[in-house]
Amino acid sequence: MRISLAAASLSIALSACAPRPVELGFWMQPVSFQSPRIGEPITAEECAVIDRIARQEIAAAFEDFDVTVTANRNAYYKIEVAPALKDWRRLRGTGTQAGEARAVAGFGGSGAVNFEYVANGAMVFTPEYASRATVIEALGRGIGRVAIHEFLHQLLPKHPVHDSRDVHSYEGNSPAVVEGYFGQLHWDIARPWLEEKLKRKQRE
Ligand SMILES: [Zn+2]
Repeated sequence: MRISLAAASLSIALSACAPRPVELGFWMQPVSFQSPRIGEPITAEECAVIDRIARQEIAAAFEDFDVTVTANRNAYYKIEVAPALKDWRRLRGTGTQAGEARAVAGFGGSGAVNFEYVANGAMVFTPEYASRATVIEALGRGIGRVAIHEFLHQLLPKHPVHDSRDVHSYEGNSPAVVEGYFGQLHWDIARPWLEEKLKRKQRE
């Protein structure tokens, strides 16, 4: 009896150290945005499109891992999309960043994406001839990519993810360049670190 109890507690201890499934909570605050580039303000339906595309972008980045993207505001790792610069100034005294993240070792993390910053980027980097729908899709990808980068800081708070110089990577990408909105991105230097940190998805 005593032996089997010891064995049971040993297996619990071991499994606690192994990588576990991870939940990434992602949600958007209500936002309003207007630009001469698109004319009428962004609608609630378009916000839903932005949310869906951003979520797909995050899920695709982590598709090799046992990671689920939810809207859970109490998730261990979480990102909120905040509406505008002025909120950031009020909260943090600075307002030129596209995103930020805080991580506490062993306690997950939280962060934010600055909607206005990324929306302005989508207006600038979407070709002039492109449709309004193309701008909205670019904005969704841009939001997703900033969120991925900030999730990465939460997941790997001690790793130098900024050492990547590859603008087509999630680590080295920036919402200040066109690659933040168009084309495909991939993992660069962070992949082996993520392999260590996250559980691989079981494939059928
Ligand atoms: Zn960063």
